Amino acid sequence: MRPIVIAGNWKMHTNPTDAGELAHTIASRTKVAGVTRVLCPPFVCLAAVRDAVAGEDVAVGAQDVHHERVGAYTGDIAASMLAGLATWVIVGHSERRRWHHETNELVSEKLKRAIEAGLRPILCVGEDLEVREAGAHVAEALVVDQVLDAVRPNSGTGLAESGLVVAYEPVWAIGTGRHASGADAAGMAVAIRQALDDTFAGSVAGLRGETTPILYGGSVTAASIDQFLAEPEIDGALVGGASLKPDEMAGIVARAGITAHARGLAG
Ligand code: PEP
Repeated sequence: MRPIVIAGNWKMHTNPTDAGELAHTIASRTKVAGVTRVLCPPFVCLAAVRDAVAGEDVAVGAQDVHHERVGAYTGDIAASMLAGLATWVIVGHSERRRWHHETNELVSEKLKRAIEAGLRPILCVGEDLEVREAGAHVAEALVVDQVLDAVRPNSGTGLAESGLVVAYEPVWAIGTGRHASGADAAGMAVAIRQALDDTFAGSVAGLRGETTPILYGGSVTAASIDQFLAEPEIDGALVGGASLKPDEMAGIVARAGITAHARGLAG
């Protein structure tokens, strides 16, 4: 059974002195059975957030990881360096693709490093507005290519064991206040699952579409989460701006708890 995941991406917000308090507040206001909670602060806040949520059943994730294991990469962070700080990691976020020119091939390498380091990856994919306006099939083809380019060079077994999560995040919906419809997000999830099955069918312990959690991301708030979680194909959300607001997170996770209960995940 797939988990319900609500992951908060704090982007380049907070600092080591206030991140712990925010994490503690969110953790204490989102205790809901059956929902996997993940907080992804900036690298320099990982230790503070880890300490603040110790014993709270909240996972800590990094927002990125370098594609090499070690080397002369000033300012970068290798997956192995996250040991003891984070257990999850976001790879391929559209802001990394946009501002750091990350390609699908690079994202695939990052995925490899995350898996090697035992981190649970959240692979972000999504189309820009021009592609969406060209039609749902065009958007699905592009997003499926993003997913397959990232996963294909990796072993199906490694991906399955890592607990890979895919986040469908239309670029035009991130930080804009506009969001996809629940039906569009669900349609994308179906296309991604089918592509995973087509790719890894025949590999005994490979990745399976039906066991891969797929989240929606893009201007999710407590007011908009409902239509995504009402879709059986959607397993939660990657939340940006609203994840910095305890009231919003409390509302989002409470709604996720209803879905967890309905899907028999709440114990
Ligand atoms: C994100 O950062 O992944 C995101 C979806 O941001 P926002 O919720 O602010 O659109």
